[in-house]
Amino acid sequence: MTAQKEEQFFKKEKGCLIVISGPSCAGKGTVTEIVHQHCPDIKFSVSETTRKPRPMEKEGVDYFYQSVENFEKRIEENMYLEYAKVHGNYYGTPRDYVEKMIDGGYDVILEIDIQGAAQIRKTFKKAVYIFIAPPSMEELRRRIHSRGTETKEEMERRLSCAYEEMTNADDYSYIVINENKETAARQVRAIITAEKCRTERLINHVLEILKR
Ligand code: 5GP
Repeated sequence: MTAQKEEQFFKKEKGCLIVISGPSCAGKGTVTEIVHQHCPDIKFSVSETTRKPRPMEKEGVDYFYQSVENFEKRIEENMYLEYAKVHGNYYGTPRDYVEKMIDGGYDVILEIDIQGAAQIRKTFKKAVYIFIAPPSMEELRRRIHSRGTETKEEMERRLSCAYEEMTNADDYSYIVINENKETAARQVRAIITAEKCRTERLINHVLEILKR
């Protein structure tokens, strides 16, 4: 098989959906960013939200920012693979992009809350679920305060949600404790690599080899 044919063969296989959750400031964004630098072929779904952009955030990079009216219209139109209200704002995963990428054979990472992950679990039985946890609640509190982008009230809301989210960690196939972002990113990459080698993913490839 030529390299080109081999690539076509692999592209026929559906991509892997990787769902990453964890409390605010556990470091999901930073960890997935490092994973992205090492694995540029993995696609990252950019969510839509009704939350206002933070100072350094960019439209289309961090989120697509929507009005509540538009978001609710798009819910009606079934445009989201999943959506949830988190900390008082809507967040949703664009259905079109993710389905197109998975069908095209690309692996896709979703960084979503536990409610969204629960919705995905109903339809994507083979997705990989990773929970990113902080090393301690004190450290999480420190990170939320030092980010400095939320009001005091919002910080308290995120902290109390964090406790609730942490009690759902056992719904995930893997837990990564983010004490050090580089180590955590290495662990996420190792999980993805192992999942890509599952027999159910590669058995067709072995059968194809036997036919040659
Ligand atoms: P933040 O406002 O800090 O960017 O995100 C707040 C929470 O919303 C985080 O837990 C983040 O993972 C989650 N989130 C971001 N995008 C989505 C999405 O598309 N769907 C769901 N369900 N949660 C999301």
